[in-house]
Amino acid sequence: MYSFLISNYLIPDTYIWDKKTKKWQYKNGREVSKNNIDKLYSKIYQTLETKNKQLIDKLVNKEITLNQWKAQFFSNLKLAEINVFLLTIGGAENLVNKDTKILNNNVKKKFTYFSKFVNDIKKGVSEKELRYRSERYNKSVESAISSGNLLNKKRTGFNFAYRRLGIAEHCKDCIYYNSLGVVGIDEFTPIKTNCICQERCKCSEYFFSTLEDAVKSFNQ
Ligand SMILES: [Zn+2]
Ligand SMILES: [Zn+2]
Repeated sequence: MYSFLISNYLIPDTYIWDKKTKKWQYKNGREVSKNNIDKLYSKIYQTLETKNKQLIDKLVNKEITLNQWKAQFFSNLKLAEINVFLLTIGGAENLVNKDTKILNNNVKKKFTYFSKFVNDIKKGVSEKELRYRSERYNKSVESAISSGNLLNKKRTGFNFAYRRLGIAEHCKDCIYYNSLGVVGIDEFTPIKTNCICQERCKCSEYFFSTLEDAVKSFNQ
């Protein structure tokens, strides 16, 4: 199903995934800087934004049908989501069955929301709303970063996690997740996913190997 992603893969050949540290490094063993990784995330996002903006223009100018727009827009979204996820978990070579399931679920969920959006467009939305809501879908690739990051934490031996509310208004979902306190990592809902604020979420997340570590960090 994901065979097409290899050709669209934005990760440079010079990046090697270190299975021990679960981080990208160069051949000489030097770690790829967070800055360079962030640049790749931005590149994935910008590519998506450019492509989807062109699609919106075409739809507005009636150069394509809504169905054509829907298929292409979502395909771009899916590709970005997959690329982000792979960049976070160590590339296609390290994608195991469990991850594919998570990825599939994320994509499916997104498609459900997206179909509702398309239905709204059918009923009639203003150009402004069309552009605004499309842009939010582009930005939602950030939730793929969070999901990938969570997997990465699990694999590097973190067993507990906590969500802290940021200085901002919070949606009821974020408040609920925060109220759970420190939870087992399998119960943890990563920031920017499964909440109303999504990519606007200002929460931060903390990971701990043991409960003692969690307690210690709160007492500091
Ligand atoms: Zn929220
Ligand atoms: Zn939040």
